[in-house]
Parts: sequence; C-alpha cells; structure tokens
Amino acid sequence: MVSCFVMSLSRASEAIILKSRLYAESDKIVTFITLDGGKLTGIAKGAKNSRRRFANCLDPFTRVRVHYKVRPGPGLVFMESCDLLQTARELADPVKFAYGSYLLELVDLLTEEAHPIEGVFNLLHEAIVALIGGPATAAFLRAFEMQLLCDAGYEPQLLNCNRCQNPFAVDEPVYLDPTEGSLACARCRQPGLSLLSGSSATAHALESVKRLPLAAARQQGFERQVAQEAAQWMGCFLALHLPRPPRSLKLIHSLA
Ligand SMILES: [Zn+2]
Repeated sequence: MVSCFVMSLSRASEAIILKSRLYAESDKIVTFITLDGGKLTGIAKGAKNSRRRFANCLDPFTRVRVHYKVRPGPGLVFMESCDLLQTARELADPVKFAYGSYLLELVDLLTEEAHPIEGVFNLLHEAIVALIGGPATAAFLRAFEMQLLCDAGYEPQLLNCNRCQNPFAVDEPVYLDPTEGSLACARCRQPGLSLLSGSSATAHALESVKRLPLAAARQQGFERQVAQEAAQWMGCFLALHLPRPPRSLKLIHSLA
C-alpha cells in the first residue's frame, strides 16, 4: 500500500551554487539555482569534512547534480550528495571573481525560494561559461542584467516613449523616470521630477542586447557615453525589483 503521508521526497537536479557558508562545526548552508525547481537553500550535513558526498561541489559558480530531499512546508532542503559537473577555477582571477559574484548575487536577489523562473538557470550557466572564456565587457554585463529582468517578467519598453508611444528617433533625447523605470520623450517628460537624461542611442543599444547570446553581446562596442548611460539606466531598472543593492558592486568598484 502506498502511504499518503510521504514525509520527504527525494529529488535530483542540475544546479549552480550561488553561495555557501559554514554552519555549526561541520555543516554547510548552501543556496543553489536548479534547472527546473527554482532557487533552493539546503543544509549539507558534515560537508566540511566529507570528501565523498560533496567534494569540491559547494563553492560558488560550481555546476553540480544535486541529490536532495524536500520536507513539507517552507525551510531548508536536505542535501544528500552532489556530483561535480563543472568547476569554475578560472573565476578565481580577482577581476572575473568580482564580476562573477555580481552575476550570482543578481540571480539570488531577483529570485524567490522554490519559485522557478524559466530561463534563469540557462542564462546564468551561459554567463559563467562566457565569463570563463572572455572579459566582462559593459555590453556583456548589460545584456545579462537585461535578459535576467526580461526572464523575471520586468522587460523595460525601450523603443517608444512610454507615454505617447511614439518611437524614439535616432539620437533623440530620452528621459528615464527612476521611480517607474519608464522612458519618455522631451514632449512627455514630467516637469519637476528628477529624471535621468540620456539618448535614444542608449535605448537602442540596450534593446539590441535583449535577445543576443551573451558571448555575442560581449562583442557589441558600446560608445563611452552609451556605456555610461546604459549602466545608470540598468541600475535604475534593477533597483525597482531588488530588495537591496548588490554588495558585490563594492568589490567591482574596488577594482578600479
Ligand atoms: Zn512622448
């Protein structure tokens, strides 16, 4: 007879480790994003000393196949073991580590536990592979941020004034309202609001990386002014949906 009162369910999934920390004497608390089950946080009992069940598997950026048990209700999943699929030793380089940490933190901040968002695992995997293979250019970073927002359902409307709906002309001044994440043309901008001014060139540059593979987006040459505005605008778009600013930005700024 099959019991209706299953106390825990064994599962396995491909996953990327977002963060981990020691807990008690030898356990680890680990947050990871799975291919199809969203973000999960689990406890890996005895992980500090285990060479068999978790060897080299629990560092950030590592891609694993994780075997775990889900218990009813909210709380930590119980991690049984991990199979190593891909290490990310190349990201030990300080510059790559800083940018990579930013990617992981954005995914962590923009996702909720056990609420899968289609595309996020694959986007992060693609980003880590691209970062291992080349530099984090401005266009690469903006493409990742933009695609993450789009996957999460927060795609900004960039080609038209968000009020009169007229398409932006080439090199037309554009105004971003940071409280709404909306763009307006000069005729529609609200007087008295503190708006970020920019150009339609930036709007078009950001639109162009919405659906590009990240390795291809990296090759986009953003002009200096566009790169500056795009970074500011993406900061505003993200701030509307993040619970707090990413701490890894300090690490990135310390590189300069
Ligand atoms: Zn308008």
